[in-house]
Amino acid sequence: MTPEEFRRIGYELIDWIADYREQVASLPVMSTVKPGEVRAALPSTPPQQPEGFDAIFQDLNDVIVPGLSHWQSPRFFGYFPANAPLESVLGDFLSSGLGVLGLSWQSSPALSELEEVVTDWLRQMLGLSVNWSGVIQDTASTSTLVALLCAREKVSDYAMGRGGLQAQTAPLTVYASVHGHSSVDKAALLAGFGRDNIRAIAVDELHALRPEALESAIQADLAAGRIPCAVVVTTGTTATTAIDPVKAAAEIARRYGLWLHVDAAMAGSAMILPECRSLWEGVEEADSIVVNAHKWLGAVFDTSLYYVRDPQHLIRVMSTNPSYLHSSVDDQVRNLRDWGIPLGRRFRALKLWCLIREQGVEGLQARLRRDLHNARWLADQVDAAPRWVRLAPVPLQTVCLRYEPDGLSGDDFDDFTRTWCQRINDSGVAYLTPAVLEGRWMVRVSVGSVTTELEHVRQLWTVMRETAEAVAAEWPV
Ligand code: PLP
Repeated sequence: MTPEEFRRIGYELIDWIADYREQVASLPVMSTVKPGEVRAALPSTPPQQPEGFDAIFQDLNDVIVPGLSHWQSPRFFGYFPANAPLESVLGDFLSSGLGVLGLSWQSSPALSELEEVVTDWLRQMLGLSVNWSGVIQDTASTSTLVALLCAREKVSDYAMGRGGLQAQTAPLTVYASVHGHSSVDKAALLAGFGRDNIRAIAVDELHALRPEALESAIQADLAAGRIPCAVVVTTGTTATTAIDPVKAAAEIARRYGLWLHVDAAMAGSAMILPECRSLWEGVEEADSIVVNAHKWLGAVFDTSLYYVRDPQHLIRVMSTNPSYLHSSVDDQVRNLRDWGIPLGRRFRALKLWCLIREQGVEGLQARLRRDLHNARWLADQVDAAPRWVRLAPVPLQTVCLRYEPDGLSGDDFDDFTRTWCQRINDSGVAYLTPAVLEGRWMVRVSVGSVTTELEHVRQLWTVMRETAEAVAAEWPV
């Protein structure tokens, strides 16, 4: 494709995306395609001759869009907000258009230095001190893996450079609450800790990690000759946005010499609001933090911010230095390949740069405050409505609820909850995710898509009431 052809088709593509965003509110939120339907509608072999973009646009309209669940819909209340506002989309577009790679500072100086600038802007926006240095990883899963690798190397005095974990005589242990994200378990396994050395710590009635249970688990491991290595606390757990006590965990981590990683993948965005920062009080005592700017904040996926207090340790664990990557300025610059696992680096900083410059900090703050207010509104409706039960506090934008009609019990209840939730999802009117909390199914309403206004939350509340009550009336008792 020549630049001239790109100009023509590119304008068409921008129009197509703009049309999609204008219409997304009217599309059924959850895709209703059956497994294999999209694949069956596409040729199983690649075209031998060029097909051109007209054919591609046709398939986008006929096959791809019907096969999507629409995360940017104002009626998307599933999982978590994965916002992709159009200014950040343009940053992503730019990143691909420039087509540069950051293997070293010299391979794309502006790529490295803009990443330094925007991660530092974000540090200030989150209210973190100058003691933190940031880098962009692809996901929170990777950030947590990097954190646990760094923890392992610190506590084992850099075993990696000797016999690795194989040479350790005593097992190293990792701690997170029972509501820690599955990525914590996965990271611990990939970092070689072993299933037997991952502790799931009990939570209190607010679903937050209990510090005394953490300390008891550490003491039990010490007594058994194991080496406590890392604690992962979550600011905003996935099921309920519960807030683990960072300060208490930090005191324990310091007392016993453990690494403290704060998983604020979802809720970290809220820290751009000074009034929310008490939720992670004690964060300055941590060793590492992850905040997914690609969730509520609105940098297009994949933009996971990873902050550390000791970049030299990170670099020691992650660095590689083959001759073909040497440059004469290596002692004056950040080589971001030494700040994570991959060598190659996309120009991800552009997505954040465009977002922050186009919205301004105040624009971003206003949107998040709107979402907090809308979630609070829904929580108040649930609290006031007979037979509706709110199952967890609402410190942020997620409301966990259940409708509990008379005469139901046990498994019936679970079937009933999943049935009315599924009926809403199947209808395409809204998208919700059910989840298990303390052994029982409930429904999570995650407010916070950029386009979701109070009117959409009001409509959802009406739909939930009508649907749950209709299913209850049909339910065999
Ligand atoms: N941690 C928490 C608390 C999350 O809510 C999530 C995603 O939902 C993750 C980690 C994983 O995020 P990612 O998809 O960026 O790996």
